[in-house]
Amino acid sequence: MNATKTLAAVLGQARGAVTVEPLYLGEPGPGEVLLRMEACGVCHSDLFVAGLEKLPVSPLTLGHEGIGIVQAVGAGVAGWASGDRAGMTFLGTTCGACEWCAAGRERFCPKQTNFGYTLQGALSEFAIVPAAALVRVPAALAAVAAAPLCCAGWTARGALREAALARGDSVALFGFGGLGHLALQMARHQGLRALVADVSDEKLEQARAGGADLAVRAEEAGKKLQKEFGGVHAAIVLTPSPAAIQQAFRALRRNGTLVLVGLATSVYELPLVDTVLKGVTVRGSYLGSRQDLADVFDMACGGALRAHVEKYGLADAPAVLERLRRGEIAGRAVISF
Ligand code: ZN
Ligand code: ZN
Repeated sequence: MNATKTLAAVLGQARGAVTVEPLYLGEPGPGEVLLRMEACGVCHSDLFVAGLEKLPVSPLTLGHEGIGIVQAVGAGVAGWASGDRAGMTFLGTTCGACEWCAAGRERFCPKQTNFGYTLQGALSEFAIVPAAALVRVPAALAAVAAAPLCCAGWTARGALREAALARGDSVALFGFGGLGHLALQMARHQGLRALVADVSDEKLEQARAGGADLAVRAEEAGKKLQKEFGGVHAAIVLTPSPAAIQQAFRALRRNGTLVLVGLATSVYELPLVDTVLKGVTVRGSYLGSRQDLADVFDMACGGALRAHVEKYGLADAPAVLERLRRGEIAGRAVISF
């Protein structure tokens, strides 16, 4: 067997430290592809996985926002050849047979696998990946620019679509990180009034510079957005904070929609009377549709969407995760290989 040596950002055990380790990969098996990674973004969900009590696989290579070049294909792989460019998202394989798969909502497939969670991820110089999970990435985009679109961009787009807003409507984005800064650009592109709430003054400054109609501290966002706008049509919570959910709820106008995206293992509480009497819709939004991802790539190719990227090397991955935990990354941190 021809082993490929790779360096990868590995979580050794549940709640363990992330370290950069050498690994040996075999050859791609039937239906699999060997990718040489060009870039991989670092997502808050990597921290979520790193903090879970139990891991489905360990040791586990993290990362689910990867852009790579096909190096070799296994038996039976159609549609991918050596030299092709491919993207990895959080969504790995799906069953293709359940009601969600049949409806084109594969991301809700109960049998799905996920990169950097149940499958080895993309924070690795090389990766062996089921071909069925790969997405096409436009050649016009640089790898470091395209990587953040595969999770942050895709998820932000999905959440905005789920909010079902019309031109001129107002949307409040809670959390101005990897998803938030892309969601702001998309909201403006859609002709929405875009408001941003965050706990960091620095990030609020970045949001203002990015064209937010208003940027407010998250702790007072509910009251402020009621006062200034009479409440917003939708509030999207991109950060894993139950306190942000409370503020987002308070910021809604009657018949408004609360969209929950950020992941935490905690529970959240909402006022029952207001939910009912104001006719509020509360919904979760996970990744996006295939069309959402295509839309994101189109927007990026057309110049309407550009990730603000902090570029790092693979050796920096553990430190980058720490900085992300502390909310110190502006935009998206991307590992460039
Ligand atoms: Zn992610
Ligand atoms: Zn399925």
